Amino acid sequence: MKRNFKIQMLYVLLTMLLLAGCQNDTEEELVEEATTAVERVDVKWLAPDDHPVVQLLYSRGYERGTIYETDEHFLAPPDLLYSKDINDYDLSDNGSNAEQAYNTGKLVSLNRMRINVFLDNSIGTDLQTQSVNAMNELNGINNCALFFVRVFNANQAQITIRSDFGAESNNVLGRAGFPSNGRPFDTVTLNVDRLDDFGADIRRNTIIHELGHCVGLRHTDWQANRERSAVNIPGTSANDTGSIMWHTINGGTPFTNGDLTAFRALFPRALRIDVVNEIDDYDYSGEIYVLDNVFVDVFTDGSYSTQTTLNRNVNVSYRINVQEYNHTSGTYYYSRNRTLTAGNNRYYIDDEEEECSPYQGETCTRQDLEIRLATSIL
Ligand SMILES: [Zn+2]
Repeated sequence: MKRNFKIQMLYVLLTMLLLAGCQNDTEEELVEEATTAVERVDVKWLAPDDHPVVQLLYSRGYERGTIYETDEHFLAPPDLLYSKDINDYDLSDNGSNAEQAYNTGKLVSLNRMRINVFLDNSIGTDLQTQSVNAMNELNGINNCALFFVRVFNANQAQITIRSDFGAESNNVLGRAGFPSNGRPFDTVTLNVDRLDDFGADIRRNTIIHELGHCVGLRHTDWQANRERSAVNIPGTSANDTGSIMWHTINGGTPFTNGDLTAFRALFPRALRIDVVNEIDDYDYSGEIYVLDNVFVDVFTDGSYSTQTTLNRNVNVSYRINVQEYNHTSGTYYYSRNRTLTAGNNRYYIDDEEEECSPYQGETCTRQDLEIRLATSIL
């Protein structure tokens, strides 16, 4: 394999440098030459049993000896990445729900349907093209609100697609993880060398599959794979072998009818907050009163270009953050839930208020409303 060859070359180079060092080079020169010669290599090793995330993965059904670790992630079969930060996990989710296709509460929130994707140079130009094709296929599903946008600045990205830097064996083409806190998983790794062996459609479909994980889709055949914690999407089948989310990658057109049903059910519409100033008044003492009504507008997708009616019932969990003007209560928040019933293109959610007396040196009471998770009711 090309990768093995490169790694061997690296050892040869390093050995030569070390040998050269024994003869005449100074240590400083050696270090400099070594950094220019070394390309990034993701090494992996067996994950330690006593790490809290590894223990959690065992408790969710992974077998001992199957979890590997790199500098950035844990690697679990067949193609999943897990954050090393235990705070990214909902520990109350005991995985007792059964059936197919997505993980309870682990979806990208409907107010985050615009997803910026950065294509790292390490995947090469052809896989960058296939990544754009993958995003276009997903953007092209009508009545699905996901809207992937390529960005050229890694700092603006919610998802970065990069090489595995040689970490994967031949049977893993790509890897990704699941959302947390309504945000997509932030990394897709591609087995660049191995993907060289396949045609354009497999290369593109691998990327679609991994992006599917990033927004919350599980394997269609998760039960056969002995994976846990998945929830059924009505209208899909665990025997849909042509599905883009089958654990092995298919060639040809990416989506089966079951896939289209799944994407449309999970991501029917994009939501966006609109704050409307209703009362803005001063009284004679200089007290300021501001009342803002908070609405949610409904769009066809995360480009927010076409407003439309909500086509499924949606649960919205939101949080009102409060800063008291007199600081007796300081900063606090309270959480609320709302069900938006299908049929409208604009929904009143709650109000925000602001009140203060600048002449008495007060800082304004300030509130803002933040959607934490908005998911379609299946
Ligand atoms: Zn997968």
